[in-house]
Amino acid sequence: MSEEQSYSPGVMRYVEQAKKALAERDRYVQEVVKKWKFDTIAVHGLYTVEESLDHNQGAIIEPMFMSASQAYRDSDEMEAALAYLIPTWCYSRIANPSTYYLEWTLALLETYGSDVEASCCSTSSGMAAIMSAIDPLLVRRTKKLDEKINFVATCQVYGGTFQQFAERKMTDRGIECRWVVHSHDLDEWASRIDKDTRFLYGEMPSNPGQAFFDLDTVTELAHSHGIPMIVDTTVATPALLRPLARGADIVIQSATKSLTSSGFGISGALIARKNIATNFDNPPMQENFAEYVKFLPNRDNGPCLSPIQAILTLNDIRTIRSKMDLLSRNTMKVAEFLEQHPRVEQVDYLGLQSHPLHELAAKYMVLVDSEYDYGEPVNRYGHLMSFRVKGGAQQTRTMFDSLKRIWRATDLGRIKSVATIPAVSTHQQQGEEARCMADVPPNMVRLCVGGEHPDDVIADLDQALNSIA
Ligand SMILES: *Cc1c(COP(=O)(O)O)cnc(C)c1O
Repeated sequence: MSEEQSYSPGVMRYVEQAKKALAERDRYVQEVVKKWKFDTIAVHGLYTVEESLDHNQGAIIEPMFMSASQAYRDSDEMEAALAYLIPTWCYSRIANPSTYYLEWTLALLETYGSDVEASCCSTSSGMAAIMSAIDPLLVRRTKKLDEKINFVATCQVYGGTFQQFAERKMTDRGIECRWVVHSHDLDEWASRIDKDTRFLYGEMPSNPGQAFFDLDTVTELAHSHGIPMIVDTTVATPALLRPLARGADIVIQSATKSLTSSGFGISGALIARKNIATNFDNPPMQENFAEYVKFLPNRDNGPCLSPIQAILTLNDIRTIRSKMDLLSRNTMKVAEFLEQHPRVEQVDYLGLQSHPLHELAAKYMVLVDSEYDYGEPVNRYGHLMSFRVKGGAQQTRTMFDSLKRIWRATDLGRIKSVATIPAVSTHQQQGEEARCMADVPPNMVRLCVGGEHPDDVIADLDQALNSIA
């Protein structure tokens, strides 16, 4: 990154060695890993037998380096490393060998089935991934303190995302977030954009409301204005939807959720294509956004992922495809049961024919490599759904408090079924008006169906609904 400077022959020797190693890694990615099926990439990523035997005592699992910093052979190597002339991790706030394997696996899974090249920056949480993705795009281009900056986002987003946009950006920093209320309406998106718009942001399917939009056309709209499309596909995971492979620029994952499903802890990632669309001049940021974020802004801000959480996350991702298949099938059964229950007013699940956005979702939500299991590509819609209890807030609470096996927790994406009432939990802080805009009424229950046998989940829901007087 500081190429104008001249370096000693000793430093350049390390640079030459690094070039060879990087060329070999590129070859391995292109000629071997990119040819694997999705499950094989999820299981192995870039960790090779040679790396294990030569450097890690034959360990089958990727190493967890619980070390704050990296030592160097001599001052030349140190100089090359700190100028980012060679691959290095330096200090675990910047990078770490364990996060390295996680990042490669996610970048490869998010671009599976396409020739798009991407890189990934892991973060301490999904919220940190959102902050890391948007802050570099919201910097002032002029020295004027009152420079107008805005971005356009779907209002049906995760409660934490809503708070970050409304409070941390709008209230604290005076950056305008222009909400799109009906995200399937392309004209509404278009009407929000002007020359000061820095990016478009959407969550699909949304948590909890199952909002969905036509990603291809919204991405086209973003690109026609020369700005990037950012998509949070936490609920879908790359097993069901891969926006980068369809032209979007940056993907957000809260790996805390379905990507892991074990519930061990919090982690996140942003995955970005090389050469993102952007309307301001910052070549390193544009060329390799995730790497730029990782080695510059996040180095300085510090929202890094710990090595232990990186390995736990990586280990859970190995089975993501078959897990999303099972969890989606279970959810479909539960949704069908709830839809015909006399005490249920409405069920929101994209997999149901009755959902107004079912056709649109069917275009996008496909279980990766499902031809192999089912003889043809099959649609899967994930395990997040919501339903509305007949009556009002009180009846909803009675049902909710009567659940015996389904956990009452503000969590989702688990192998264990979990339910919450968004109006009193995840969407409590944003207030009545914002809940109304995002369509989160007090009788809505968010349910994330786990890996239990669906009959047992259904029985628990049935007795809880029948407990309403
Ligand atoms: C949970 C969630 C986030 C935030 O992720 P954390 O890991 O909890 O910080 C972002 N987006 C969506 C869709 C989520 O469900």
